[in-house]
Amino acid sequence: QVLEGPITIDIKDLTYTYDAAAGPVLDHLNLTFKAGEKIAVLGRSGSGKSTLLNLLRGDLSPQSGAIEMNGIPVTQFGDDIAKYIGVLQQTPYLFHTSILNNLHIGNQDATEEEAWDALERVGLKDLVAALPEGLETMIDEAGLRFSGGERHRLALARLILQDAPIILLDEPTVGLDPITEQALIQTFFSTLSDKTIIWVTHHLQGVQMADRVIFIEDGHLTMSGNPEAL
Ligand code: ATP
Ligand code: MG
Repeated sequence: QVLEGPITIDIKDLTYTYDAAAGPVLDHLNLTFKAGEKIAVLGRSGSGKSTLLNLLRGDLSPQSGAIEMNGIPVTQFGDDIAKYIGVLQQTPYLFHTSILNNLHIGNQDATEEEAWDALERVGLKDLVAALPEGLETMIDEAGLRFSGGERHRLALARLILQDAPIILLDEPTVGLDPITEQALIQTFFSTLSDKTIIWVTHHLQGVQMADRVIFIEDGHLTMSGNPEAL
């Protein structure tokens, strides 16, 4: 499957159930995300936000309804989905290899120059340039030589190199202090300004930066609107 031009995401009458006894987690959900739109997705713990992101990535298949990109169900893309959708998890995954290799995971063809450029855009260029081994510096398993905020910014640099038009952020700032969180979200939105961003968060902090805020409750959309209306 190959998509050209701006991508519209259509969620059509989507229902997803893990366990019939517990009932549907998402129940006949209808939503459209336009290319370049920044959407904050709010909802209580267990309301189905992460489930929705997994469905968007085609990692789960809905029991009924569909999610389509320009009319094609996301479940039909297989591994090619990575060309269109990038994900930043709550705890960004760093591998026990060099900084450069970690950045290359998003895009094997990225040059060192592009890697430095991505690091500059997330504000890590000086930090990495000051390391004796620069881009070849090894990252230990948990990425412990970096602070939580730095790990998120490294993962963001990887996303910049991946250059997918749609970015899913699943509570990417959990565990950070409010000021660092605000700064990171601002960095995400400005560095990825041309991308569609679907940002799952559990609180209102920073949502005014989004174009639209949606609330999910009991499997349904209970509000969708401009953040100023909150
Ligand atoms: P949080 O804000 O805590 O991350 P969430 O909105 O992301 O919550 P989900 O992780 O999507 O919520 O979970 C929605 C519901 O589905 C919850 O009741 C959860 O227990 C259930 N659930 C999630 N994953 C599974 C699974 N693999 N098997 C069975 N039930 C699941
Ligand atoms: Mg979740």
